[in-house]
Amino acid sequence: MKRIILAGTAAFLILVAVFAGGVLAAAPELVVLAPVETGIGSPFLVYISSTEPLEDVVISWEGKQLPLEVERSGDISEAMVLLGTDVGSSRSGPRTIEIGASAGGRSVAVSRTITVADVDFPVQRLSLPEEMVTPPKEVLERIKREREESSRALATMSSGRKWSVPMVRPVPGIITSPYGFRRILNDQPRSPHRGVDYRAAVGDPVRAAADGTVLLSTEHYYAGQCVYLDHGNGVVSVYMHLSERKVKEGDPVSAGDAVGLAGKSGRVTGPHLHFGISLQGMMVDPEPLLAE
Ligand SMILES: [Zn+2]
Repeated sequence: MKRIILAGTAAFLILVAVFAGGVLAAAPELVVLAPVETGIGSPFLVYISSTEPLEDVVISWEGKQLPLEVERSGDISEAMVLLGTDVGSSRSGPRTIEIGASAGGRSVAVSRTITVADVDFPVQRLSLPEEMVTPPKEVLERIKREREESSRALATMSSGRKWSVPMVRPVPGIITSPYGFRRILNDQPRSPHRGVDYRAAVGDPVRAAADGTVLLSTEHYYAGQCVYLDHGNGVVSVYMHLSERKVKEGDPVSAGDAVGLAGKSGRVTGPHLHFGISLQGMMVDPEPLLAE
């Protein structure tokens, strides 16, 4: 079963590399597939392989070092990782991906340059009564605590890859608010939308995007009833505004399992699913990772 998933992933990767103008470049022992250009907020795959046994594969990206699990497929050693940038904090320009590994007992190092391009995200200006824009003072402490809890969960980097692409679409509904969308409320720019909102009715099942483990199952002021799943390799998915949670922290989940029911809990005006994907703490656009 795992072999089939991997074969599918490799085919997807090659397609991504071809369409993104990617390069197939080889150090003597290491083949690295990575795009040469990406837009801010877009996730991308990096695939590393060798015909020699690989060990201690570490990839550096945006100041973080991530050890990768090596998988065997026949005579090939391979490792893969999802990387990206965040509409909330990343800037355009050239970046370097560095890969270090031991191949057949010899250490090898490969680097790739990837250009991060600006994206014109949609903007909406709104005037609203001030009390709808600023949260009441008595909840500020709670919001701060919950933000810290969320950041800790999003920074999880457990070893072992449980995700595969394409991921399962958590609900079938259309997008009501895309990734990167920015509201300017009463002339004050709010932080950009770091996930995608999908149309969903109260009670619709919300499905896990990939295999994983429940990191957080809780209730937050803004997010309402929410679930965070760890898929390994720094990949975390988040599901917000649920009417009911079906999992508790530590539970294993399989791709497609219902982790909760859609709802309108938290600070929202109507029922929908806010879905997010974090890659090593950076919230990317989940859409390119999802099945049709
Ligand atoms: Zn949202």
